[in-house]
Formats: sequence, structure tokens, C-alpha cells
Amino acid sequence: MRHHCPVRRWNGWIDEDDAPPRVPVEARRLLEAEIGPGEPTADARLEDVAAGLPPSVFDDDAGGRLSLEPVDRIRHARGQSLPDWIALRSGRLGRVPDAMARPADAAAVRELFVLARDRGAVLIPYGGGTSVVGGVTPDPDDDRPAITVATDALSGLRALDERSGLATFGAGTLGPDLEAALAPHRLTLGHFPQSWERSTLGGWVATRSAGQQSIGFGRIEDLFAGGRLEAPAGTLELPPHPASAAGPDLRQLALGSEGRSGILTEATVRVVSTPRVEAIPAWFLPDWPRALEAARDVGRAGLPLSMVRLSTPLETATLLALAGNGRGVRALRAWLGIRRIGPEPSLLLVAATGPEKLVELAVREVGSIVRRHGGTGVGGSLGRQWLRNRFRTPDLRDALWDLGYAVDTLETAVDWRRLPDLATAVGRALRHGLEGDVNGDGEGERVHAFSHLSHVYPTGSSLYATYVFRSSADPDETLDRWRRLKTAASEAIVEHGGTISHQHGVGRDHRPWLAAEKGELGLAVLGDVARRLDPDGLVNPGVLLAGDPPIAGDAP
Ligand SMILES: Cc1cc2nc3c(=O)[nH]c(=O)nc-3n(C[C@H](O)[C@H](O)[C@H](O)COP(=O)(O)OP(=O)(O)OC[C@H]3O[C@@H](n4cnc5c(N)ncnc54)[C@H](O)[C@@H]3O)c2cc1C
Repeated sequence: MRHHCPVRRWNGWIDEDDAPPRVPVEARRLLEAEIGPGEPTADARLEDVAAGLPPSVFDDDAGGRLSLEPVDRIRHARGQSLPDWIALRSGRLGRVPDAMARPADAAAVRELFVLARDRGAVLIPYGGGTSVVGGVTPDPDDDRPAITVATDALSGLRALDERSGLATFGAGTLGPDLEAALAPHRLTLGHFPQSWERSTLGGWVATRSAGQQSIGFGRIEDLFAGGRLEAPAGTLELPPHPASAAGPDLRQLALGSEGRSGILTEATVRVVSTPRVEAIPAWFLPDWPRALEAARDVGRAGLPLSMVRLSTPLETATLLALAGNGRGVRALRAWLGIRRIGPEPSLLLVAATGPEKLVELAVREVGSIVRRHGGTGVGGSLGRQWLRNRFRTPDLRDALWDLGYAVDTLETAVDWRRLPDLATAVGRALRHGLEGDVNGDGEGERVHAFSHLSHVYPTGSSLYATYVFRSSADPDETLDRWRRLKTAASEAIVEHGGTISHQHGVGRDHRPWLAAEKGELGLAVLGDVARRLDPDGLVNPGVLLAGDPPIAGDAP
């Protein structure tokens, strides 16, 4: 089998040959003041991990259908969650798939179901491997051999119906390849998650992903018109009707399925003409309560916006520190002071995308809403900078890790009524989550936690939190810090009525909190559906639902 070498480095986010970006001195100082100096930890080397990898349980490559190469197995063992990073950086990988398969068409996927059944193995669909919730890792509690199914050979544009605005792609198509295939036709999908460069259409559908401009272009569930899900029980064809009243919508069985019921081999998406104009002006609001009110009014105004992104004062301060332009930031703060904004302003970025006249109108309307809440506009340069760096920001995670800091994010959505309390509770849970005697000196670790509203809807908003803490020389201790923070924040989310995920999905990491949203009967129904499509639990057991989910008839 051809040896495939993804561009992403095996234990991080940046390209294999790239150096991490520089962390500006202002941001380093901020972190040192907030949580103390980091102590870099040593990384394991891929060659050493490969040399120490236990052999695969398989002793043949199934007629060329499996790769047993240690490097292929290691590169597909983990996604991008913080536990994944800790495992990869320390070289303590835990379970690694026994083999990797790369089917080139739907027939080859069906053959893999037969192979898995014959060999008593399970299959793990793997798109870009950017899951941040443990969606592509082998189940530690399932001792069946695991075969990762990489979808990168199921890629490319298969059909384009320009008249209907429908494009069919292989599920393994990466974001940039998808847009590049549409660009000559002056069409776009407009789906830009921050992981866009490294994630796939199939992964987006399987996780109900949201792009940065989803409030304008639509989340993937609005864009996914139909497709083909290969399940061990058969093929589920999902035709791309513009609308249908013919019973429940079976597309929902693929959306958010997280590989639990089968493998999506192709997807038909709704595409639109490339917008003529995009404006991303920025405003500053004087304080968080007024900023929240402004965002709510903007969200409820029915304007043709593609993004509304409101940072808390602490996130605003962190972004300004990361800009690394001390003099420019001091001048900005002085100017904001004159306009009576500050000392703890909130940054609001808004994108309007579409025909010129509509964009102008939308920006004007946002401006008058923001001014009603005491805010002031600062023009388009911050927005242009955001656009330039939109896919580069995650590179900082590599740079911060090298300085001894672990970074993770989590997200939720809730109605406007409960949002203020939820935001306070999540912030508190993260900031105080490591208090107590975790580092032996009785004081515990501090956490730098900040957040923004990333998607604003008429009835509520998402909340996206980033948290930074010092990693320990002992990877188990770092993992324990993460677990404490994740648990505290997830409990705060559920207690305040938020969803356990607005966009990242459930995977393994969010599973304990799924019942709070779906209820016992709801979970059991989802279990029945998975069991009907995959009676032997061959595909991604333990992700989204327990490996052996309860039966609906058993629920109260
Ligand atoms: C830096 C960074 C930024 C991110 N930003 C965003 C963001 O802005 N918005 C957002 O929504 N998410 C974001 N994510 C999360 C992640 O990128 C999304 O969940 C994405 O949709 C996953 O796509 P993928 O192709 O990488 O799927 P993978 O990570 O490979 O898989 C995700 C899940 O889907 C299943 N799966 C994958 N392909 C298929 C298929 N063809 N058929 C069936 N099941 C399949 C897998 O088994 C797994 O359970 C981010 C992640 C990172 C690391």
C-alpha cells in the first residue's frame, strides 16, 4: 500500500516542515502574570514511538486492503483534543489502531464491513482527524482489533448541477479542495470552520459542524442536501430534494452520526454564487453587560450578516496582546478612552457578505444598534487582520505548548435569557477549576480562561471558551488538570441549560453529558437507530453512544 504522509505534523497542528509562530512578548507577559511562567516539556519522537509500538494483531494486509505500517497506525491513532495532544507529545498513546484502510469507493467500504465482521474487528471512520472530542480514537474498553478507515481517497467533485446549485463531492474532500473545485464556476459552499484547511466534508456532516460564517451561509445541516451512507445493514440513499413533507428527514441520521452508524462516502451540498462584497467592520463596547445587549439586538434584527463575534473583555485584552503591536494598541486604548470606552472594552466583529447595497445597509444598521449601547466603530483593519489569520490562530497552540502551556477550547449554545449566567458560570468553573493542592504547594494552578460569542442567533447564542493552563512534566498530571477543568465546565454548561456542544460534537469526551440533552428515551431511540444500521456495533463503537446502548423499550 502507498505510504501516505499527511502534511500536518504527527503530534500537533502546524505543517510538518514549519516552525511554530512566535508568541509576542506582550502575550507572554500576560500569561506569566495570569498563570505563571511555563516549563517546556520534552516531546516524544515519532521514530521512537514507532519502534516501541506493539505489533498489529493482524498478520496479513487482507490482499492489500490494510496498512499495518506503524507510522500509518500512529498517525491515525488520535485527533486534536487536548488528551490527544498529551498522548502524542508524551508518546504514551494508549490504544493505537491495528491497521489503517484507505477505500477508494463505496464498494471498497462495503468490503471493509465484511472484513471487519470476518475478523471480529471494528472500523473507525477518519476524515481529517481534527476531532476535538475523541471521535477518532479506538475505544479503550473494547478489545476487538481496530481498523481506521481513512476517507482521503473518497474525494473530489463528482457532479455539479449549476442550474440547481447542487454539488456532489466525495466525503473525504478537504475544505480547500472543495472550494477550489467550485471557484472556476464562481460558486462557494461558504463553510469555513477554523479547521477548514484540514477537515473534510464527511467529517463536517458527521459532526454537525458550524463554519465561522454559518449564520449567513448556514450550518452544515442547512448545506447538506443529501448523500450516501454506507452502513453494515445496507446503503442509505439520501436524495437531495429541495424540501419534503414525506415523513421524518432521514438526512438527520447522517448529520451528527459521528461515524456511529456507517461511513458517508459522498455528500451533495447546496452551493451559492460567490458573494460580491464582504465587509468585516469592528466595534468596541464599553463593558460586558452592554456588549451582550448589543449582540442580542444585532442577532434579533434580521440583518443579512454572516458573522457576529463578540469577545469578553478578557478575550479582547488577550487578542490585543497577541497582536503584538504595543504602540498601536496603546494608541487604540487612548482613543477608546476619549470615546468613553474602557478600561475593559469588548470587541465586536461583524461580517456582512453579499450584494453591495445589502452589505452597506447591514453595516449601517449594526452601527446604529451598537451606538445605542454606547459602542464605537473602529473601521475595517481589525476585521481584515482577523480574515488574514482566521486559519492561522490555532498554530499558536503549538507555540504555547513549546512554552509549557496547554490550550483547549469548549463551546455551547443557550437562549439569551440564560446566557449571562451560563457565561459567568463557565468562566468561573474554568478559572477556579485547578484551585487546591494540585501542584503540591497548597495554592494550585491558575487558569487563563476567556470566551466569545461565536454564532449569534435570534433566540440565543453560542459561547466559545478558550482556557490556558501550565502543563506538567508528568503527562498524567496534565491530563488530570484537563479532566478537572473539562468536567467542571461541562457541569456548569448542563446546569445552566446549555447544549454540551454547539459545533464540536460528542465523541467520547462529551458522552457523559449527552443524556442531559436527549433524555433517557431519546438516547435509547438513537441507540436503536445505530443498532438497526449497524447490528454488530462494527463502526465507531463508544463514540456518541455507549458501545452497547440501551434499548428504547427498556426506557421509562
Ligand atoms: C483547530 C481546530 C479548529 C476547529 N474549528 C472548528 C469550527 O470552527 N467549527 C466546527 O464545527 N468544528 C471545528 N473543529 C472541530 C473539527 O474540525 C470538526 O468537528 C470537523 O467537522 C471534523 O472534520 P474531520 O474531517 O477532521 O473529521 P474527523 O475528525 O476525522 O472525524 C470526526 C468524526 O466524524 C466521523 N467521520 C469522519 N468522516 C466520516 C465519514 N465520511 N463518514 C462517517 N463518519 C465520519 C469520525 O469517525 C469522527 O467521529 C476544529 C478543530 C480544530 C482542531
